[in-house]
Amino acid sequence: MNNLILLGAPGAGKGTQGKNLQEQLGIPQISTGDILRENVRTKTPLGIKAREYMDSGALVPDEVVVNMMAERVRQPDCDKGFILDGFPRNTSQADALTAILKELSKDISCVIGVEVETKELIRRLSGRRVCRGCGLIYHEIFNPTMNTGVCDECGSETYQRDDDKEDTIKARIEVYEKETRPLIEYYKKLDKYFGVNGIGPVDAITEKILSNVVKGCDNP
Ligand code: AMP
Repeated sequence: MNNLILLGAPGAGKGTQGKNLQEQLGIPQISTGDILRENVRTKTPLGIKAREYMDSGALVPDEVVVNMMAERVRQPDCDKGFILDGFPRNTSQADALTAILKELSKDISCVIGVEVETKELIRRLSGRRVCRGCGLIYHEIFNPTMNTGVCDECGSETYQRDDDKEDTIKARIEVYEKETRPLIEYYKKLDKYFGVNGIGPVDAITEKILSNVVKGCDNP
């Protein structure tokens, strides 16, 4: 079983790699950001609470995301494994995840750290466009859609996320450095961390993750 975590700064490519891994491994990619954005879009009580944090680039309070994820990993589609994208984002979320999985007699197989330098993150995030329909991720310059504003795959509209604006990008990277980066050491100590260089062709990075990382993980 592969119970994977994708760790990395905003813009490192967690979402893109998560989609590829989902396809190749046949297990769900669970993106906290996507779930939260869907709640914001449909104006659920959770979405209304989360919005102000997301708009400023801050983390949504732990109790909100932890409860959300506790429910999500219990769903039957996670029985054969899962790919967590964007969770945990600090050590208290990581502790909570361990406890949630323990209750289900599960454990993390490995944590894949997608490593990209800050200058490149800013370049990627400021040009990022996302499909409203299928969630595919593009870049205005480096990976544009064939027709501006229209997803190549499903034909839905592509858009720029509210938090992909310059000030919010900076805040999100700072939050990553302060809150999330310590998780690298946290999972290294547990012997579960594998770092992958996140620069290069998307499919080559996926291949590297599959052949060098996933096959070498513990399989609880
Ligand atoms: P992402 O799509 O992963 O970049 O997440 C977008 C935003 O959702 C973040 O900037 C946070 O405000 C919020 N968010 C996503 N995952 C978490 C998490 N694990 N803990 C707290 N907030 C989160």
